Amino acid sequence: MTDARYRRIVLKLSGEALAGEQGFGIAHSMLESVARQISEVQKLGVEMALVVGGGNIWRGIAGSSQGIDRTTADYMGMLATVMNALALQDVLEQHNIVTRVLSAIEMRQVAEPYIRRRAIRHMEKGRIIIFAAGTGNPYFSTDTTAALRAAEIEADVILMAKQVDGVFDSDPMKNPDAKKFERLTYLDVLSKGLGVMDSTATSLCMDNDIPIIVFNLKENGNIIKALKGEPIGTYVGR
Ligand code: UDP
Repeated sequence: MTDARYRRIVLKLSGEALAGEQGFGIAHSMLESVARQISEVQKLGVEMALVVGGGNIWRGIAGSSQGIDRTTADYMGMLATVMNALALQDVLEQHNIVTRVLSAIEMRQVAEPYIRRRAIRHMEKGRIIIFAAGTGNPYFSTDTTAALRAAEIEADVILMAKQVDGVFDSDPMKNPDAKKFERLTYLDVLSKGLGVMDSTATSLCMDNDIPIIVFNLKENGNIIKALKGEPIGTYVGR
């Protein structure tokens, strides 16, 4: 038996979380740290799906501001998430964690296509799944992917990994007096424009009653604490 509060979770890792201090690209130390935390989660018997971002390599909006067509730039962003997913898979497997990368854009040589039933089957068999290529559609984000996939696979919670301890009333990196919220409603996040996830993703969570825990990935053991229901970070719900 497990003492975890949640049975099935989605962990959203932004590209930034994989870049670490260097701020771009993939930092091996970050992958190692994620892999160690995930292997602890597996011991709890919790089913886990990862959604990886791509902002450490490419963001559609930034690309389009440099003159690349927005849709093309977004597809490039989705491809960036596949690179992150493959890097993560490789390091997880070095830790003997069995994984499957499921891509929303078909690329059979490197990943399985995303098929919902297959994703669930993998998780039931104890494999960690990594959702790559976002939703497969431009004008969306990997935050929205996390919300969408969480709804599809009936996850109990989304863990949003950040570089800070939760959601604050101002940027804690710039303002030492920034106040952390312990708990927020979806409507608080939407009306105050708080940096939890984008509004499309927040609305999807709200409409489908999927709670979000925003936490600091850099603190070792935080994922386990969140899963055991210990109060870390900021809880967003009804
Ligand atoms: N993207 C997209 N559709 C999706 C998911 C992602 O077009 O469903 C593109 C978009 O251009 C985005 C980029 O992929 O800027 C990287 O994803 P995101 O910005 O969400 O990554 P993160 O901020 O989590 O690193």
